Amino acid sequence: MGISGLDIFKLLPKTNCRECGFPTCLAFAMQLAAKKVELEKCPYVTEEAKKALAEAARPPIMPVTVGTGDFSFTIGGETVLYRHEKRFEHRPSFAYSISDSMKDSQVDEILNRIKVQKWERVGELLQPNSIYLKSDEDDVSKYINLVEKVASNTEFSLILVNENLEAIEKVLQFCSDRKPLIGPVTKDNIDDFISLAKSNSCPILIKGESLEELIQLTTKASDEGLKEIVLDSSPNNLKEAFDHQIYIRRSALEKKNKALGYPTIVYPFELTDVPIKESVIAGIFVAKYAGIIVMKNVEPESLFPLLILTQNIYTDPQRPMTVEEKIYPIGNPDEKSPVLITTNFSLTYFLVSGEVEGSKVPTWLLIMDVEGQSVLTSWAAGKFIAEEIAKFIKRCKIEEKVSHKNLVIPGYVAQISGELEDESGWKVTVGPREAVDIPKFLQSYKVA
Ligand code: SF4
Repeated sequence: MGISGLDIFKLLPKTNCRECGFPTCLAFAMQLAAKKVELEKCPYVTEEAKKALAEAARPPIMPVTVGTGDFSFTIGGETVLYRHEKRFEHRPSFAYSISDSMKDSQVDEILNRIKVQKWERVGELLQPNSIYLKSDEDDVSKYINLVEKVASNTEFSLILVNENLEAIEKVLQFCSDRKPLIGPVTKDNIDDFISLAKSNSCPILIKGESLEELIQLTTKASDEGLKEIVLDSSPNNLKEAFDHQIYIRRSALEKKNKALGYPTIVYPFELTDVPIKESVIAGIFVAKYAGIIVMKNVEPESLFPLLILTQNIYTDPQRPMTVEEKIYPIGNPDEKSPVLITTNFSLTYFLVSGEVEGSKVPTWLLIMDVEGQSVLTSWAAGKFIAEEIAKFIKRCKIEEKVSHKNLVIPGYVAQISGELEDESGWKVTVGPREAVDIPKFLQSYKVA
């Protein structure tokens, strides 16, 4: 939640000395609130005011980054309760649970299965990004061996969970540079964990036996200077887990409870023994605020729908997903290849381009910017109409790439074909309504 210009102004010296480059302190405050200038530009801000400003500008739910490299992820940083108010910022991470009580062969099998779980959808790579390594046996060397094995065989972000501090200390000696999340921090070990997290610059996982205890522990960690904290509220059942997620988010956003202003971790597999129910419960926590969702079921049919659900919930509802307006050559087209046109709504683009590719017919695909709307919607909005398409045909310079003037338009806008021919001078053919029919159409389509 941002701080207002007037609130900032109250903390400035109010001398209007102009050294910051602005005519008044108020003008500077307004620019600072709009994040257009840095606080350091004013040499007269007191340390006390700096602290107050930093505190006031703190997001209601602190962002936490776990890991480094391609599999690192950030959670938290959220500012709204409901997606339609603005958007949800950071998607939950799906972490697979592996324990030191598992046999080597079991661990290998899980790792092999997780590594291949990746899917491309509307131009994005969807995959799990972390592994939750827990200790079920109080055997330090067993835990070290497990972490060593996983760290050396994968690039996933690591969540290291062991109540034996010596074990965490030892594994950090070889993997602290991967910025793992470490825990569980409890009332009994918080002092030692805080110094371990500080010396290794790691985020911590705090586990409270109740929400009250959680608040006490996060307050202590925060007072000690730790900012990257993940909350485990130890729910006893699904209802409690659901209630805790909502209570924590509401407290942070509406009651400005800073002690609960951190992302959370949930364990759907602890709330059921039925694998499919684990996925359903995980889906609930995708919608209801979890930062990390720890999974046991490594079946792709369990994870795939969850990743799709996450992608859908975490897109910006005020901004349609779009692709760039341009000519997309598919399969090395030449001057005699067909020319198809559609809109820049990314789902439309990926469906159409996928089918064109599948047809094995080299094709020029023209993607026209209609602010990310689908074919019918943009036609109804007066954006994908004959006059505008004719302008786009000229603008994109497709005439420099082909020796013909034949254009295929989506079947949904068949009604504009005559007018488009008049406006553009191109011969217009009405293509299929559905993308799935494109391969059959292209295989029999002849450029005149
Ligand atoms: S430098 Fe500081 S005190 Fe001077 S005008 Fe700017 S904000 Fe005000």
